[in-house]
Amino acid sequence: MYLKSLELSGFKSFAKRSTLTFAAPISAIVGPNGSGKSNVAEAFRFVLGEQSMKSLRSKRGEDLIFNGAGEGGRANRASVKLVFDNSRHFLPLDFEEVSVERIVYRDSLNEYSINGSKVRLKDVVELLAPAHIGASGHHIISQGEADRILNASSRDRKEMIEDGLGLKIYQYKRLESERKLLKIDENIKSVASLRREIAPHIRFLERQVEKVEKAKAMKGQLVVLCTQYFSREEAYLSATRRALDEKIKGPKEALEKLERELAGAKKTLEGASSKDERLQEVISLEGKIKAAREEKDSLIRDLGRLEGEITSSEKVRAREETLARERSQESISADKLESLISLYEQESKGAKDVTVPALLSFIKKILTGFRTLLGESWQSVFSHDEDSKKELQNLKEAKNALEKKITLTEIKEKELESIRVSLRKEIEEEKDSSREAEKSIFRIIAEENKIRGTLSALSREEEALARDRGSFTRELEDAQNIIGQAVLEFKKTIPADSSGRALSREEITAIPREEQETRRREIEKIKIRLEEAGAGEGEEILKEYKEVSERDAFLSRELTDLEKSAQDLRILINDLGEKLRTEFADGITKINIEFQKFFELMFGGGTASLSITREKRAARAEIDENGEEVSLEAEREEKIEEGIEVSVSLPRKRIKGLMMLSGGERALTSIALLFAMSQVKPPPFVVLDETDAALDEANSRKYGDMVE
Ligand code: ATP
Repeated sequence: MYLKSLELSGFKSFAKRSTLTFAAPISAIVGPNGSGKSNVAEAFRFVLGEQSMKSLRSKRGEDLIFNGAGEGGRANRASVKLVFDNSRHFLPLDFEEVSVERIVYRDSLNEYSINGSKVRLKDVVELLAPAHIGASGHHIISQGEADRILNASSRDRKEMIEDGLGLKIYQYKRLESERKLLKIDENIKSVASLRREIAPHIRFLERQVEKVEKAKAMKGQLVVLCTQYFSREEAYLSATRRALDEKIKGPKEALEKLERELAGAKKTLEGASSKDERLQEVISLEGKIKAAREEKDSLIRDLGRLEGEITSSEKVRAREETLARERSQESISADKLESLISLYEQESKGAKDVTVPALLSFIKKILTGFRTLLGESWQSVFSHDEDSKKELQNLKEAKNALEKKITLTEIKEKELESIRVSLRKEIEEEKDSSREAEKSIFRIIAEENKIRGTLSALSREEEALARDRGSFTRELEDAQNIIGQAVLEFKKTIPADSSGRALSREEITAIPREEQETRRREIEKIKIRLEEAGAGEGEEILKEYKEVSERDAFLSRELTDLEKSAQDLRILINDLGEKLRTEFADGITKINIEFQKFFELMFGGGTASLSITREKRAARAEIDENGEEVSLEAEREEKIEEGIEVSVSLPRKRIKGLMMLSGGERALTSIALLFAMSQVKPPPFVVLDETDAALDEANSRKYGDMVE
């Protein structure tokens, strides 16, 4: 027992959910006309994936949905669920119970599920095929279709038999494999064309890569050469620089020292220039001294004149004194004396209380009066005497003053003279030191010139070195542009001899420059070759080549895989074809034996058999699951359509063709064939809807026996 139950919901006349449980090996469904018995048989077809609406007595999916009746409104969907007992695993699923369900919606959308999981129709068909249940529904005989297998075309008949023999699964597999093969062939074509497309590009890239590799090798060579060249050049330049610095150091210091000395000497000379000021001073001093002298001389001359005057004045005085002395010896007449007394008396009348000075003045007055009395001679003697005295006195005083003046002038002169002397001395001394300084300056300048000569020779060397350094920098930049940072490796490289011993500074400077020149020329040569090679974006090309060749390799692998798969599929298709052919032939033989038995049983004799027919057919298009038309290579090649012919010969009748059988005879033959098939490969269930309708009573009984 494989069939467990059938559940209908909204399907045709089954508005409510109705479950039919098949507890016995044979279940009979009875009921009045129109009660829905045939609907049950159709429910079986429906759930097993029937695609022909006609077979379900409908025009479209919607017709399958309960359309409303007296008590209930119409349903939105129709569902039928078939439950199998799979404890013997006749279905290739690891479940004790397997349910297959189909739902149709009003928009004709169909849904299938196996054990509650949504699946495709294909999955349902594939699940049921090994159990000899197929979409052809050979085991479901609908009402009035008892002779369906006889009415069918030889090709459809073949399908029914293949279904019954459980061969459909191989056909599906073959079909699927053929489809796969078709796709793979297409893929092979497109992969091959892709490879053809990229082949020229790969060839081009290969040539480029070759160039790049060459350039790479040259660059490697260049790096080695540059490292040697630049490390040596750097060492040479810095060693030469240091050597030059050392050479320059002594002369430079000497020159600095000389400069300092020169500055000192110049300063000394500058000091000498103050001598002029002093000379001016001396000159002005001398002027002053001269003036003092002239003043003194004039004073002396004045003094001489004065002394002359004094002498003459003294002479006059002496003469006057003599004269006076002579005069004084003259006698005064008594009259004159009397006159004096009377003068006194006259004058003294008014003088009583007088002071001494007044007295003296009084006396003088009297005497003066007396002198007047004595006459002029007296008077002149006295007055002359007084004048010459006074004059002499004056002269002497003037002389004294002059002498004093002369003394002062002399002192001044002496002072000036002594200043002049000391100034002179200073000037003389300075003259000596500036002569020394001058001498030094000449010496220093000579020495300096000598050193400058040395330094200028050295500076020419420096210039040459700077030029070399400039070239070095340019060459380095140039090399860096070509080989990149790798060139800077030279900084870490110490120049060494062939045995690897580091070269000393002296050795480096001693290396002939030609060696470096040779290296430089070699570098230039490689640079030119590199330029000619013109492999600019090497990395880009290598990257692209890597990508493209990887892609090609991938495509090639893909192609191999595809070809392998295609080959495997071809073998599989072949095997399946072979299997189908042999099993089909084998199945037909077996069915024929059974068919003959049942036929004899039904008709009490006669013969019945199936035979395979082969007809040429026009190329037939298959529709794949996506609704696209595909023509299968295997069939296109064959273009031969196989079918099944039924030949019968009734006992005691000369009838051989199916066309000549009566309705009952047709039904009996059909039932015999169906039963024969069921004997060879028993289906899990058979549905017979009023199959006996066309049979008379005797045949109905036979039929009943057969069912039993
Ligand atoms: P008989 O003994 O006459 O052959 P039966 O029991 O086999 O009858 P069916 O042919 O199964 O009856 O049922 C037909 C009935 O189902 C009809 O009455 C029809 O109206 C009804 N029917 C068919 N499709 C639908 C539908 N979509 N909605 C409602 N009823 C439907």
